[in-house]
Amino acid sequence: MHQTISKPVEHPSELPKWNYDGSSTGQAPGEDSEVILYPQAIFKDPFRGGNNILVICDTYTPAGEPIPTNKRHKAAEIFNNQKVVSEVPWFGIEQEYTLLQPNVNWPLGWPVGAYPGPQGPYYCGVGAEKSFGRDISDAHYKACLYAGINISGTNGEVMPGQWEFQVGPSVGIEAGDHVWCARYILERITEQIGVVLTLDPKPIEGDWNGAGCHTNYSTKTMREEGGYEVIKKAILNLSLRHGDHIVAYGEGNERRLTGKHETADINTFSWGVANRGCSIRVGRDTEKEGKGYLEDRRPASNMDPYVVTGLLAETTILWEPTLEAEALAAQKLSLNV
Ligand code: ADP
Ligand code: MN
Ligand code: MN
Ligand code: MN
Repeated sequence: MHQTISKPVEHPSELPKWNYDGSSTGQAPGEDSEVILYPQAIFKDPFRGGNNILVICDTYTPAGEPIPTNKRHKAAEIFNNQKVVSEVPWFGIEQEYTLLQPNVNWPLGWPVGAYPGPQGPYYCGVGAEKSFGRDISDAHYKACLYAGINISGTNGEVMPGQWEFQVGPSVGIEAGDHVWCARYILERITEQIGVVLTLDPKPIEGDWNGAGCHTNYSTKTMREEGGYEVIKKAILNLSLRHGDHIVAYGEGNERRLTGKHETADINTFSWGVANRGCSIRVGRDTEKEGKGYLEDRRPASNMDPYVVTGLLAETTILWEPTLEAEALAAQKLSLNV
C-alpha cells in the first residue's frame, strides 16, 4: 500500500497510524474489519529513490490490542525488558531462499521435468551451469544496502537455484525489522524479473538441501571474558525448551530437519563445536577464545524472525529451569555449568 505524506520523514513517530481491510487478508472479521497499522521502522525505498521510504508496521485492533498475527508486539515486550536490554542481544540471521520458474513450481535453472546434476559444484559456484539467479541476489544486495538494511553478505547455496543473504549482527527487535524488510525487497525484485520466490523449508524432496534461517546469537556476557560458560548455560536452557522452540521455528520444518543435508533430527536436541549436523553449533573461534556466539541451526527459512529472536532471548535470559531439570540436562549434554 502507498501513502502520500506532505513532507520527508525521518522517524516512524512522525507518521500517522493507518489502517486496512483485515477481512481481505483473513486477519479480521467482515463486520469489524479495520486493522490499524502502527509505523515501527523506516527504510529508504530502493525502488522509487528520492525521499520515498518503506515503512515496517505492526497491526492492532481499533481497541489497541495486537491482532493474533502480530508477532512483533510480544517480541518488542521481550526486548524492552530491562534484563534483556542490559544483555544487548545480537542476532545474525542467515536467510536462505529458493528461486522458482513461474508456473511450473520447479527451481530456476533446472530442466523442467528433470533434475540437474547432483549437489557439489553449486555452493558459491560461478558459471552458467552452476549459478542460477545471481542477478537477483546481487540486485537484492544492492537494494538492501541502499535501503539501510544491515545486510552483511550473500552466497550461492548448495542446492542450485538456492541463495542466502545474511542480516546482522543486529540488536534486539531491529533484527526482525531488517529481515522482514529484506524479504519484502527480495520479493519485489523477483516479481519484477518474473521469477517466483519461495521460503518453503524443503522445496524439493530427496537428495537436495532444504532452506533454513540459521540464527546466530550472542549476549553481552557471552561476548565478554568468560562468555563460553554463559553460552553453555544458554545451550542447556535451549535443550530444555527444545519442543517450544521447534513449534515456533517455521511450518513444514519437519520435512527439512531430517538429520541429513547438514541438519539435526527434529526430535533430538544436540550441540557441538563446528558440527553442522547439530541443533546448535558453536564456532571454533568461540571455543578457542572462550567467548563469542552460538548458531541455532533449527529455524526454517519461513520462520518469523520476531518469534525466533524473541524466544531465544526469553529462553536464555529470562527463563530459568528447575535445579533438578538443569542437573539432568547438564549430565545428558555433558555440559558442566
Ligand atoms: P555460516 O558460517 O553459518 O554460513 P554466515 O557467515 O552465513 O555463517 O552468518 C553468520 C552471521 O552471524 C552473520 O550475519 C554475522 O554478522 C553474525 N554474527 C557474527 N558475530 C556474531 C555475534 N557475536 N552474535 C551474533 N551474530 C553474529
Ligand atoms: Mn551462511
Ligand atoms: Mn547457508
Ligand atoms: Mn549457518
